[in-house]
Amino acid sequence: MENTAKILAEAANSIGIALSNQQKDAFLLYLRVLQDENKITNIVANSEAQEIIWKHFIDSIAIPPILQSFFAEKHQLSLLDIGTGGGFPGIPLKIIYPGLSLDLMEATNKKAEFIRKVVQKLSLNNVNIAWGRAEEFGRRAEYREKYDVVVARALAELRTLVELTLPFVKKQGIFVAYKGPKYNEELAIAAKAILTLGGEVQDIIESEATGIKRAFVIIRKIAATPAKYPRRSGMPEKRPL
Ligand code: SAH
Repeated sequence: MENTAKILAEAANSIGIALSNQQKDAFLLYLRVLQDENKITNIVANSEAQEIIWKHFIDSIAIPPILQSFFAEKHQLSLLDIGTGGGFPGIPLKIIYPGLSLDLMEATNKKAEFIRKVVQKLSLNNVNIAWGRAEEFGRRAEYREKYDVVVARALAELRTLVELTLPFVKKQGIFVAYKGPKYNEELAIAAKAILTLGGEVQDIIESEATGIKRAFVIIRKIAATPAKYPRRSGMPEKRPL
């Protein structure tokens, strides 16, 4: 465990984050819960500590400086993580930026139950779990256009992804997509969908902080999403805009 703590602290340091003891403990506990659960059911593909630390914890929090200051400064910023799976990137972001008001959305019951357990064990405040599909929540008034920031990692290709995410973003709020090196191809075919849903690409920030090529595609909501979106479950993927 001592070694794991060291790997964690050094990894965070390498991206410019000095973890407090409380944050270190939270990540180590999260790691333990994740490894235990992974013996029973697959939450992550590889449950080796080093792999989880880099691929999930550090990758989730290695966000561009402009987002770091935004998350740190604005207290009670509302953040929604869609298709959070084992809690990524939402839970690591909440550990680093405890002022966030976080909602985690996940379609699979098993995963939703798992993140419920994590939130409880880590005593995280101001975190809600929305078990269900984005296509359904996106049509509900309590969720629609209610978030300052929406994030998603490894959920869908960009043109499908924007239909699942932009309905939740407040006017003038942002959607942040954690994307891989092929973001350019995805962007080219997503242009029409982004416009249709009321978005505008604001910035693309490339990063290699964790040794993997990442691009943060930041889309600002400049107009309301038309009421007919999102379409019914499965449609955004089957017939992307
Ligand atoms: N964001 C996590 C998990 C990615 S896998 C990570 O980066 O590690 C994608 C997850 O999204 C799965 O857990 C899947 O159950 C969930 N998901 C897929 N489609 C969804 C939808 N339409 N609404 C909500 N969750 C969805």
